[in-house]
Amino acid sequence: MRFGFEKLAQDGAARAGVIHTPRGEIRTPAFMPVGTAATVKAMMPESVRATGADILLGNTYHLMLRPGAERIDRLGGLHRFMNWERPILTDSGGFQVMSLAGLRKLTEQGVTFKSHIDGSKHELTPERSMEIQRLLGSDIVMCFDECPALPASDKAVAESMRLSMRWAARSKDAFGDRPGHALFGIMQGGVTPELREESAEALKAIGFDGYAVGGLAVGEGQEAMFGVLDYATGFLPEDRPRYLMGVGKPDDIVGAVKRGIDMMDCVLPSRSGRTGQVFTRHGVVNIKNARHQDDPRPLDEACGCPACRNYSRAYLHHVFRSQEIISSMLLTWHNLHYFQVIMAEMRAAISEGRFSAWEAAFHAARAEGDIEPL
Ligand SMILES: [Zn+2]
Repeated sequence: MRFGFEKLAQDGAARAGVIHTPRGEIRTPAFMPVGTAATVKAMMPESVRATGADILLGNTYHLMLRPGAERIDRLGGLHRFMNWERPILTDSGGFQVMSLAGLRKLTEQGVTFKSHIDGSKHELTPERSMEIQRLLGSDIVMCFDECPALPASDKAVAESMRLSMRWAARSKDAFGDRPGHALFGIMQGGVTPELREESAEALKAIGFDGYAVGGLAVGEGQEAMFGVLDYATGFLPEDRPRYLMGVGKPDDIVGAVKRGIDMMDCVLPSRSGRTGQVFTRHGVVNIKNARHQDDPRPLDEACGCPACRNYSRAYLHHVFRSQEIISSMLLTWHNLHYFQVIMAEMRAAISEGRFSAWEAAFHAARAEGDIEPL
């Protein structure tokens, strides 16, 4: 069975569809939880699935350093290793080398760097990134690219983008023909329309199974990000999935879907679950706040997750303050569940041609704010 994308409905620029893979269907718009080190922190894989996730993301940079791609391959691949049989997308390692590794050296060939774990020296090139993602057994493989640190001059952004396009061609060559697996290209070009268009044209000439919008959600702000998406998705093919990398907060996700994005990933729901930050229909709730300590009500009356069905705000406050492990488990579950609820509601709204009304209700509920203290 081959990889394929089917657009089922469109409402304005927002699209609903399905990505077919041998490991199962991915309903779009899709939110991908991040399983950095072969685990979505504080969650069992079956719990991740129970939140409604069809696919999760693994990080090439982390996995190549520890436990190592060759070791994961010997142990049967990443799906088996982490007990997640559904689709996995892996990033190329490029972005995290730029943001995490020490002593980087960038050349036309690739990047050499020192591990942030033990200082050991490594090299990532388009060819090595494709090899690692093949060893992991990734279903959706990302091209190796470079993302310049902001702020950067137009000249620097252009040079970086063109390097990434040469690396995209090398990634495609190295990926080869792998039926059932997909390779996505990554559009760069910062916030400059001409560079975004040049990048998209270069990628389309190479030809990919899907197209990501890279170089956003790196501190430019929501307005600038939406500004790019307003025109950039229009440079991409209609019949391929579009992936916005590293996004985001609930309102970022809704705004991206509105502008024609089909896939997103972010550590925010899981990371926030561990720091006591909870996302609900009514905005952000900080569970460590003392206002919750006598409150017998759930986080969100309408939420069907275990944290909301079975526990009070008072309990969640207590276990967070006591640094009990169940706090991270419950709050992460709630956050991931809520993100998947947003996706499911958007898919339904797009299919039924009422996305604008849904979006207005989404913002209205957030504007109301959290329930009044008792
Ligand atoms: Zn909940």
